[in-house]
Amino acid sequence: MANKQITVIGAGPGGYTAAFLAADLGMDVTLIDREKNPGGVCLYKGCIPSKALLHVAKLISESKDAAEWGIEFNEPKISLDKLRDWKNKVVEKQVSGLGQLAKARKINYVQGSAAFLNSSTLKIEKADGKNEEHKFENTIIATGSIIATIPSLDIKSKRVLNSTTALELPAIPKSLLVIGGGYIGLELGSVYDALGTKVSVVEMMPGLLPGADRDLVSYLAKRLERSFDKILLESKVIEMKEEKDGIVVKIQDKERKTSEQKFDYVLMSIGRKPDTIGLGLEKTKVKLNEKGWIKVNQQMRTDDPNIYAIGDIVGEPMLAHKASHEGRIAVEVIAGHKVAFEPKAIPAVVFTDPEIAWAGLTENQAKEQKIKYEAVKFPWAASGRATTLGRSDGVTKLIVDPDTERILGVGICGPGAGELIAEGVLAIEMGANVTDLKLTIHPHPTLSETLMESAEVFFGQSTHIYRPKRSK
Ligand SMILES: Cc1cc2nc3c(=O)[nH]c(=O)nc-3n(C[C@H](O)[C@H](O)[C@H](O)COP(=O)(O)OP(=O)(O)OC[C@H]3O[C@@H](n4cnc5c(N)ncnc54)[C@H](O)[C@@H]3O)c2cc1C
Repeated sequence: MANKQITVIGAGPGGYTAAFLAADLGMDVTLIDREKNPGGVCLYKGCIPSKALLHVAKLISESKDAAEWGIEFNEPKISLDKLRDWKNKVVEKQVSGLGQLAKARKINYVQGSAAFLNSSTLKIEKADGKNEEHKFENTIIATGSIIATIPSLDIKSKRVLNSTTALELPAIPKSLLVIGGGYIGLELGSVYDALGTKVSVVEMMPGLLPGADRDLVSYLAKRLERSFDKILLESKVIEMKEEKDGIVVKIQDKERKTSEQKFDYVLMSIGRKPDTIGLGLEKTKVKLNEKGWIKVNQQMRTDDPNIYAIGDIVGEPMLAHKASHEGRIAVEVIAGHKVAFEPKAIPAVVFTDPEIAWAGLTENQAKEQKIKYEAVKFPWAASGRATTLGRSDGVTKLIVDPDTERILGVGICGPGAGELIAEGVLAIEMGANVTDLKLTIHPHPTLSETLMESAEVFFGQSTHIYRPKRSK
């Protein structure tokens, strides 16, 4: 029997993971992307470059904290060219590695732009200028998302950055206004803050990171209030104009009072939208939902029988690891395996300082959906490891079903929360209860102990805090 054939459009973390698995399962694979190598937004202008720069930001911020421990460093001298070079090298190393992995798997990698001619043919405008028609048996759309803008504020100035141009490090602005208090705005704002920019944030909602539980955000908000210049909540930018030495921004607060301020640069970070531009979806039976994302079922199938879609293009949560998981599901479905995308927990991590991470049910969701729950918290002030790091500003929280004692959700705030959350994800996926977590021996002294101790808090038996169990 001939091998199954699969064509993947878009080589981000969703697309390349799908293509690699398909090749590993013995399929004939074509992977199409506009870039020379696989990587997508995640590697070229998202997760990887931003985390490289956040690593530098952490180093600078820790060097300042060290003064308290009797070690003083001089003010850092920053060579923007070298920093940019290093970040570019990190990206290049990763994407060229992916290119080699595609070659090793004998994947037909085509650099170009694909568009549907009908439900079984693509037109590929190749980077070498040669167009070709490409017949497919099965295709996976993994074209991701692009930056959303506010048309009335789109003033086309070099001083107005988006997440992509901010990562290119054009300058170290004297002052920067970040429009949008979501994770991308706060991460990039933290990078510029560490480099010496006076950073302000304006957010329409009453708090930063609107999707996250407030108690987790409170530690970050406190630290940012100290390091950032201003955090303006329930406020929005209604006008921007460029002057010779900056951008004049008109901000409206919740009482609808307006004020004007000048910033050296502005970073617009208000969200992302589906990348369906020029894809020719109207020539297929693929349907979009009311927000413009491609409609799929739990097997990642669109309304067109041989067309699947995965990753950002199918909507929230727009995260690389969700995209990869969906990519693997789509390929397994094509291979004939009985699988579906039904995770109990998709972790979300905000790589600020402190980091915030959560998985499964949040306390906000439990309240909104009227789900019976008990929240137990272990404050990092009681963690020996956190104290050795000089970072007691954190908390580990479990959302527990009081009847079955199952762990429904985990939330963590503190340095390294992004690594720690993986244990919470495993606990939720495995249907673990608080006793499982309590009885699991955790290494000492580590921050991971805070997960075990939060399970102990549930029983009123945490060694390092005294909080007797309330009788029901
Ligand atoms: C600044 C920033 C930081 C981020 N940080 C994180 C993080 O820390 N963790 C995390 O999980 N997520 C993060 N994300 C989100 C993450 O990057 C995305 O969720 C992820 O890249 C989505 O993967 P994808 O495979 O769906 O598509 P993408 O990565 O968007 O890739 C899509 C690819 O398809 C290509 N393409 C589009 N149309 C066509 C076409 N017609 N023909 C051929 N190719 C096409 C594009 O060029 C692109 O290479 C971040 C995003 C940004 C912007």
